[in-house]
Parts: sequence; C-alpha cells; structure tokens
Amino acid sequence: MGGTNGLKETAPVGSSTLGVNVFTAPGKPMVGERPKPLGEALGFDPMTSTLIFGDADAVLVDAMTTVAEAEALADWIALHNRNLETIYITHAHFDHFYGLSILLDRFPGARAIATPKTVNAMQMSFTPPVERLARRLFPGQVATRLVAPEPYEHDTFTLEGHELRIIEQGRTDGPDSTSLYVPSIGLIVAGDVVYNQCRMYVGDTTPESRKNWIAHLDGLAALNPTIVVAGHKKTGAPDSPSAIQDTKRYLEDFDRVQKTATSDQDLFDQMTALYPDWVANQSWLMFGFPGV
Ligand SMILES: [Zn+2]
Repeated sequence: MGGTNGLKETAPVGSSTLGVNVFTAPGKPMVGERPKPLGEALGFDPMTSTLIFGDADAVLVDAMTTVAEAEALADWIALHNRNLETIYITHAHFDHFYGLSILLDRFPGARAIATPKTVNAMQMSFTPPVERLARRLFPGQVATRLVAPEPYEHDTFTLEGHELRIIEQGRTDGPDSTSLYVPSIGLIVAGDVVYNQCRMYVGDTTPESRKNWIAHLDGLAALNPTIVVAGHKKTGAPDSPSAIQDTKRYLEDFDRVQKTATSDQDLFDQMTALYPDWVANQSWLMFGFPGV
C-alpha cells in the first residue's frame, strides 16, 4: 500500500512473529554389543534441538548429547545473532542435556530450565553408574562437566511477549516428559513424545504407559499445530504435524504385535516390516537400553 497518509511505520514492541529453526544431529554409533542380536549395530537415532527466535532474543529447546554436537549447535545458534535467553530441556534422558555445560559456557547469560519433576528424574543421569555407562558408550565424547537445568516452577514463560507453554505428560518414552507449545506460531517442540520416522524407544514402556503416551499425542493433535518438531527425526524429514499420528500408529502397532509375536525376533521382524523406511533399526529401542 502507498504511504500517502504521512504516517511512519513504528517499530513494534517485541517481535510481531517468532521464527523457528531446527538443528538435526545425525545418528551416531555407540560402543558395545546390542542387548539382543537383532538389527543394526549399536547406535543412536538422529536428534534435534530447536531455536525459537524473535527480533533480538531466542530460546533453545534441548541441548544434545556429545561435546561435538553441542559445539556445532552453539556455532549454529551464534549464526542467528540473537541473545540466547533460555534453554528449555524437555525431559530427563541424558541424550537431551549432557551437552548443556558446553552451551552455558558459550552463552553464559542463558538460563537453563526444566520442570521440577524433570530435574528430579534427571538426577539418575548424574550418578556414577549412568555417567560411566554414557562415557563407555560414547568414549571421549561426553563433556567433563555435566550440569542440570534449574527447576522452573511455572508452566509458561515468554519470548519477546509471546507465551511458551510447558505441557507436562508424565511417562511417555521416559519419566516426567514434557512438550513445549508456542500458540502464536502453532509450534510444538515435542521432545520425545513425538518421533519423526525414527524407531521409537518403547523398551521402557508398559501397556499402561503407552496408553498415557497415546492420550497425550491426542492432546497435542487437538492443539492443531502447524509445526511439530520431534526429539528424534530422520535427517531432512519435514517438521510436519503428521508425525503425531505416525507416532501414535507405531505405539498401537507395537501394542498389537507384541501380544501375538511368537518371539523377540518375530516382534522385531514384524515391526521392521511395518516401518521399513524409518531409521536406526536398533533392537535396544525395543528391548531396553544397553546396560553396564
Ligand atoms: Zn531422546
């Protein structure tokens, strides 16, 4: 429109809209033997961190596992030329926060937060057996200093006036998980409540916990999001809301096939046949995390 009325555009208070970019770290090998001799060699799904940004400030969701991943993530964040205000951690599994100390060294003004329940569940990851296990699975790749986020008591925080809502979901692929919802841009950063064309960690679920997980997937779908970022996604996959239904379908298929499978091999083979194009066909995701 022509500016014939003599009014000048004034800068808005805060940003009029938020942007979002997703960093995907590729899948990576783990050192050790698979708990069951099925599928690919021991390894880890590709994973995501998400940057939500306004005109000046930014929020990061999840902080990667290894030093190399966290350093690459920090370099990528710096390219956005925003002030990193907050790092939000979605859940208590160490793959999403062992990189946190690297990020806080690079962005010392950032405040790292998670729900009090998530912070509590994380304490396991700071015990010597779990730390030792992580350092053995990823030798020379885990930060020397591991830190936890601060417990955050409220269920919302803001970025340049936009509300970010924490959705607590209880046990999904792990205990006390959450997703982060940004209504103004229809964004859900789902943590590991949603997987995007990646084998899912059902090895720590029960029929009851899968019911809870599915109920919360229905809850996320009911928000009618336009962008859904999964904690783990096939590299290059779009951040489409359809990942919510795909995740639900995988859980329902697993539930059904588990009841009739004649052996672990049969269960694994049937799920592989149903999801031939999903990445990281590792048996530990189905049968339990490789132990000490
Ligand atoms: Zn994860």
